[in-house]
Amino acid sequence: MVNTSQPLGSNHDRAERAEELRRLLNRAAHAYYVLDSPEMEDSIYDQLYRELLDLELQDSSLVTTDSPTQRVGGRPAEGFSSVRHRIPLLSLDNAFNHDDLHSWYGRLLKVLDREPPAGSPLPALAMVGELKIDGNALALSYEDGLLVRATTRGDGEQGEEITANARTITSIPLRLHLKPAPAWVEVRGEAFIPDATFQAINNERQSREESLFANPRNACAGTLRQLDPMVVASRRLDFFAYTLHLPDDWQGSTPRNQWDALQWLGDAGFKVNPNAGLLPDLASVEHFFDQWDNERRQLNYATDGVVVKLNDFQLQDAAGFTQKAPRWAIALKYPAEEAPTKILRISCQVGRTGVITPVAEFEPVSLAGTSVSRATLHNADRLEELDLHDGDTIVVRKAGEIIPEVVRVLPELRPAISQRLKLPQICPECSSELVREQGEAATRCINSSCPAILRGALRHWVSKGALDVDGLGSKLIEQLVDRGLVQSIADLYRLDEALLGSLERMGSKSAENLIEALNASRSQGWAKQLYGLGIHHVGDVNAKAITTAFSDSDSLHQAACHEPDSITAIYGVGKEIAQSLQQWFSNPANQLLLNELHSLGFSLALNEDEQTRAIAAAANNHLDGSTFVLTGTLPTLTRSQAKEQIEAFGGKVSGSVSKKTTYLVAGEEAGSKLSKAQGLGIKILDEDALLNMLKEFP
Ligand code: NAD
Repeated sequence: MVNTSQPLGSNHDRAERAEELRRLLNRAAHAYYVLDSPEMEDSIYDQLYRELLDLELQDSSLVTTDSPTQRVGGRPAEGFSSVRHRIPLLSLDNAFNHDDLHSWYGRLLKVLDREPPAGSPLPALAMVGELKIDGNALALSYEDGLLVRATTRGDGEQGEEITANARTITSIPLRLHLKPAPAWVEVRGEAFIPDATFQAINNERQSREESLFANPRNACAGTLRQLDPMVVASRRLDFFAYTLHLPDDWQGSTPRNQWDALQWLGDAGFKVNPNAGLLPDLASVEHFFDQWDNERRQLNYATDGVVVKLNDFQLQDAAGFTQKAPRWAIALKYPAEEAPTKILRISCQVGRTGVITPVAEFEPVSLAGTSVSRATLHNADRLEELDLHDGDTIVVRKAGEIIPEVVRVLPELRPAISQRLKLPQICPECSSELVREQGEAATRCINSSCPAILRGALRHWVSKGALDVDGLGSKLIEQLVDRGLVQSIADLYRLDEALLGSLERMGSKSAENLIEALNASRSQGWAKQLYGLGIHHVGDVNAKAITTAFSDSDSLHQAACHEPDSITAIYGVGKEIAQSLQQWFSNPANQLLLNELHSLGFSLALNEDEQTRAIAAAANNHLDGSTFVLTGTLPTLTRSQAKEQIEAFGGKVSGSVSKKTTYLVAGEEAGSKLSKAQGLGIKILDEDALLNMLKEFP
């Protein structure tokens, strides 16, 4: 949620912000409910809505009759007759985390007059947890057991009559499985479009060059409003029932609580979502919510939260309704992966090759459960494309493990006077002027003694794929560089144990271990050393190929500077790499580094293992020219063993299937790579076939 407390000091500011939010939200709601074509993501809408609600709660004079907080959903659409609901069909209040859930429960206990004395535990009320299906609420009226009317929610008081369309939904019974049936029954539930159907609808629309539906809920709303029931039938909507209203004088079986009502609905012929839970207390509600956060991804329909309902109908009646929603239920929504916030400034990060990554700093927001205040802007082009101005409200995203990024700006919320934000011109680490070469997306710091570049180079040198030095993390590297104790990779090998032991968060034992790890790293192979030097474009795979062809630093130096063709002759090594090696080896500072490493005990040449492998490869290069892709689990070989074997016989292993792939080696639970390879007509091998192939031509 946007933190309004800081920038919105005065009443005037607050009134202006409320006005802005009303304008934006009302427009978005119209696009969403009436046009079925949302302008923004639901989570962004929810958070801006919350911000408005908070402003209105702080100062009730800000509440206006046209505020979106004052009404349910949208107006009935034109083209259908409008029907008044027998019982208002309201929305649900939202909770976005466990704290909100606790506040709702506290309010509920208060209206029910069940608040415990201070310090005593909260009384437990049984609740029903249901998945919040991301569809559209429908009210279905049955008279003497027959479906007579289906209505959308509309504005809660009046909805659109869409009976003909609802009759095409096969999970809605046209006649109740009850004998005798009550004079009337009203059943409410959610019409929705399963994911696969949604995809199919959008694919079809795309092929007809029609606009795509933003999500299954909008596709469903658009479908329910189709004037031609044949079109609705072709969209294969589904329906889960969750609310039951029976006449007071009905003598037959009458549920007294929500849990039994679900059972009743199932018996009457409705499809009831099987994933509901009867939850005895708040802790079990929390557990239910957390459990479904993961499991809902396996479902074939969209859910955006859990609806928690007080189980007992008498207690529900006692709690009653607000103007918009029942007090006895709450929609507990899953954490947003996108959120709006206010930009504060642009800063930048310097990578190990000097590349500058612009970073947006903004007011902290909670995203996918964590607080975030910085996000990458990737590069200067992206910054320009976003057209960021100071005071802008931006949308930031963090999905799962992905690093947060700025998705877009909400220009409607831009202050009247604001300046475009630009990338700093000066390196934040060493104050040298930044350079952007023509035709390059990257802006760089080209000062080779820039501390940020040095830190990056050291981190890379000690990383797992390179020299693999345990115990030398980013924080320690920062201390070593900031204190001027290390000015090059070679300096790492001149560190003194006592000095290391005196550094922050280091003791004598960790210093001793680190020195040992550094010493051990001297015997890593030539391929790892070359990769560790961090030469532009030289990755671990190329480093292996290059060092197999040039067995020590001198021969590589000679080839890089004087015989570039012998470099490009290596399988998989192109001009870009040859050029980069040539630049690197021609730099005297790098020559100095190699000399220093040499005198510190690095062979800078193939070690015994590597030599054996190189000889084997030279003798057994019958797989030369073949590219393999591995997928699934092989019965005996691990992925890296299979890779090593293939490479030892001259083959190349790639991570993805393409037309250039020669063989796909597939094990158990092979995924999409297998189907892609089959589609491309690539030969598929199992482990036995691979082993035979390795043996066949020694
Ligand atoms: P809601 O979606 O937050 O919750 C209420 C609805 O949940 C009910 O009406 C019902 O249809 C549904 N529901 C699903 N499963 C249920 C169950 N088991 N029991 C009871 N109800 C269940 O509220 P809303 O008023 O329908 O819509 C408001 C939401 O719509 C906002 O929170 C926002 O996410 C979205 N919206 C988005 C935009 C936009 O521009 N993207 C604009 C307006 C509204």
